[in-house]
Amino acid sequence: MSEGAVKKEEKPRKFQAIRGTRDLLPPETAVWNRVEQTAHEVFGTFGFAEIRPPIFELTELFARSIGSDTDIVSKEMFAFEDRPSELSPPGPNEIPDDYTEAIQKSMDGGLIPSTPSNKRTVAAMRQKLAELHAAEDKRETQEVENAYLWWAFELQDLKLGDALALRPEATASVCRAYVEHGMQQLPQPVKLYYMGPMFRRERPQKGRYRQFYQIGAEVLGGSDAPAIDAEVIEMVMTFFDRLELQGVQLDLNSIGCRECRPKYVELLRAELVKVKDNLGADSQRRIETNPLRVLDSKLETEQGIIATLPRIADHLCDDCKTHYAAVKHQLEMRGVIYRENWRLVRGLDYYMRTTFEITAQGLGSQNAVCGGGRYDGLVELLGGPATKGIGFAIGEDRLILSLQESGKAAVQQGRDVYIAWMGEHARATAIRAAKDLRKAGFSVELPPVELKFGKALGQADKLGAKYALILGDNEVAEGLWTLKTLADGSQAKFTEPELLEHLRKQKALSS
Ligand code: ATP
Ligand code: MG
Repeated sequence: MSEGAVKKEEKPRKFQAIRGTRDLLPPETAVWNRVEQTAHEVFGTFGFAEIRPPIFELTELFARSIGSDTDIVSKEMFAFEDRPSELSPPGPNEIPDDYTEAIQKSMDGGLIPSTPSNKRTVAAMRQKLAELHAAEDKRETQEVENAYLWWAFELQDLKLGDALALRPEATASVCRAYVEHGMQQLPQPVKLYYMGPMFRRERPQKGRYRQFYQIGAEVLGGSDAPAIDAEVIEMVMTFFDRLELQGVQLDLNSIGCRECRPKYVELLRAELVKVKDNLGADSQRRIETNPLRVLDSKLETEQGIIATLPRIADHLCDDCKTHYAAVKHQLEMRGVIYRENWRLVRGLDYYMRTTFEITAQGLGSQNAVCGGGRYDGLVELLGGPATKGIGFAIGEDRLILSLQESGKAAVQQGRDVYIAWMGEHARATAIRAAKDLRKAGFSVELPPVELKFGKALGQADKLGAKYALILGDNEVAEGLWTLKTLADGSQAKFTEPELLEHLRKQKALSS
């Protein structure tokens, strides 16, 4: 039996999409396309241009930017070592000399990083092998074993490949790209947007997936003028408005800066310690790790306590206070309606000052469709120059879920024209007609084999076609084609140019 063939009695395995991932299928994909097209259009009118960073990066990029204490980095990342497959760890029967030389060869060939540390490690492994062989010559079994263990121990230091991770978000990649491509040389600020899949190993539920999609934008460089914050928010709201997203609610807060926030966090921590016994286990833990996140708590029993905690708005430094007031003023000038929410925080260290979140209807408890904020320190944290930054990320899955729940996700389905043809002359004409109609932008279904007219019209109905173009040898000979409107069954005859004109007019009327 050839390799890969399946034994008769064994049923071939059926595969399913991995938990937390899903297939986006038609007709829903048309909604996705509409949403993404609208983003291209709206963001374009605000002077943003698209960036497409890679799907995976060094794990360290995310650890450094998002912070290794966060859930995302500590437990939700899909991380892997980019190790050449021929260098799987040595098996029990592996000859250590061969393995060591294989590593040397891979290093020479650039398959694994030829770093000083790797070179040192290989030298040390060779040294242990020399000791091993010397012991073998003297038949000192214990020594041989020891030398082997030392060899294996050295081996662990070898970095066979880079530690990589699927991106859990894209802000870090955009900042990396900004530095890598010297975008600080461009006119500032640089306004970029992206869209694509993100990956987090979370517990899947409605509106929460392991592969999900974000549409986001970042403004990098230039100043931190409050008008920039306001315009970025105005842009998301314009986008949502264009999509007719329902129940949109914008929450706004300022979380201060490196000067004032640490002092507030200490104050908050001190107050939390006093009420510790009345808090749940999660919040108790967060008093130490990240007290701001306690404000995020949805736990019913904690709400009364949280209401009495000190609020950051009362502890902002003068600069942050002025900035926050100006952002609010700028939003008002743009007619953007917001609600101040002093409990809105971001868990990540790099965020500062303006913070916002947008919720929409129909999503249950995962109702946040967009999160964003200012992150002036991030580019510097990634080895670039001191750079101002602000951005947001929209959860596209949730956005579309909300549009569907509120009946705003209608898409045109079916075909414009189904060509029912019979006869050899008609077949040639049908092929030409399909070409011309498609060129004029109509969607056309041309049955690949001849069908009786009755059957063809039945298919046209099932496919939801608007019109059936009926082409028999008679019609072709006469040069008069019959167009049937399937909704009401009415029929009319047209010459070819008249037909195109008629369809164009109808399409213009219906759109
Ligand atoms: P949440 O509090 O809902 O977990 P988050 O703070 O982790 O959100 P961000 O990292 O700010 O979310 O991402 C921005 C947006 O991306 C969220 O508002 C949400 O719409 C979407 N999002 C985040 N994680 C997921 C996921 N696992 N599945 C689907 N959408 C997600
Ligand atoms: Mg989350």
